[in-house]
Amino acid sequence: AAPISLVIASGRLAKQGIIAKEAGALERLARIQTIIFDKTGTLTEGKPRVSAMLAVKGSQASLLRLAAAAESESAHPLAAAIRREAVKLGLVIPEAEQLAYTPGGGVEAVIEKKAFAVGNARFAAGRGWQMGQEVQAFAQARETAGETVLYAAIERECVGVLALSDMIKSNARETVKELKELGVTALLATGDHEAPARAAAKALGISEVHASMLPESKLALVEELKRRGKRVAMAGDGWNDAPALASADVGIAMGDGTDAALSAGHMTLLLERLKAIPEAIRISRLTIRNVR
Ligand code: ADP
Ligand code: MG
Repeated sequence: AAPISLVIASGRLAKQGIIAKEAGALERLARIQTIIFDKTGTLTEGKPRVSAMLAVKGSQASLLRLAAAAESESAHPLAAAIRREAVKLGLVIPEAEQLAYTPGGGVEAVIEKKAFAVGNARFAAGRGWQMGQEVQAFAQARETAGETVLYAAIERECVGVLALSDMIKSNARETVKELKELGVTALLATGDHEAPARAAAKALGISEVHASMLPESKLALVEELKRRGKRVAMAGDGWNDAPALASADVGIAMGDGTDAALSAGHMTLLLERLKAIPEAIRISRLTIRNVR
């Protein structure tokens, strides 16, 4: 490869908001066939808000204040949304002790001398919570509408559900379409549940969806595609994407993400510049052609 054209290409990429950490990444990007997108924070704004609640025991306010207390130490966007809503409603958030976090699941704490927990369906099932008819119907309706659902329990008894919605980025659908025109297939991989993942994929024009993915399952997906001979890029924003970003042929870390995601990627993309991905593929292909 002629260094000069790579240097020029790097300059053009930087103008688009993309920083390549190594020249090799540019060459590999030119040949990418498949790109795996994380959902939350990558294709969505990553700023969810509480859109609805169902309290089957006690009031919605008490459900929210307990959830906000349990989420007081979590850096997850869902946790921030729950705290924001509690503050917005002027609730006094109680003290939480013995906080424990299950990645890709939820949080537990002792609040007012009782065990309280909030998390997704897998987390709830793993703890043997029984969901009544009303809870199930509410959760299903919200998930079908594309929202993320979290269940809450006191002493292992389900006391309510929180539904959170996150907007799809305005340029996300267009990005997926441009990638398709470049012959690159977009896949969705998310820690979120099946129904909201499918709803988001449909809105984005993505047909292959992998839901309820733990960080290690995202990594396994990258490796499986590579084994099948695909050249794979991964775009993600969180520490939970870091192993997959590192293993992909090209890892594209979205710029506002955690340090782990940023350092694991081969390329860094400014958060609002999703469309820079197809632009970068075009630039990299032109560059490689000129080098030859
Ligand atoms: P994503 O791939 O969507 O960025 P994460 O691995 O960060 O997903 O989270 C996956 C799922 O785990 C979330 O959709 C949520 O259901 C659950 N979860 C993660 N962190 C928390 C938390 N602090 N509180 C409640 N649920 C959580
Ligand atoms: Mg994410």
